Amino acid sequence: MMITVKNDFHNSECRLRLRGQRLSIWQIDRCRATLCQPDDCWCGGIIKQQGPDSIVDNEGQQYAARLDFDSDWNWFVRISAI
Ligand SMILES: [Zn+2]
Repeated sequence: MMITVKNDFHNSECRLRLRGQRLSIWQIDRCRATLCQPDDCWCGGIIKQQGPDSIVDNEGQQYAARLDFDSDWNWFVRISAI
């Protein structure tokens, strides 16, 4: 499933293929770098999503991205429908 992550502060967006609910570290890095270039910018959420409907799939379903931890206390980003 493809999701589109948008940032209305920089007017940028990034498309990602979602498998399950987790983003890979590579996807997180690419999304953050695509949506917001300045290192010292504090816009957006954990993957630099910003604004209404900031994470949607092709059918318009909205998603939230949040920090989560697995059983070994490694962090990851969970994408879940809202
Ligand atoms: Zn920014």
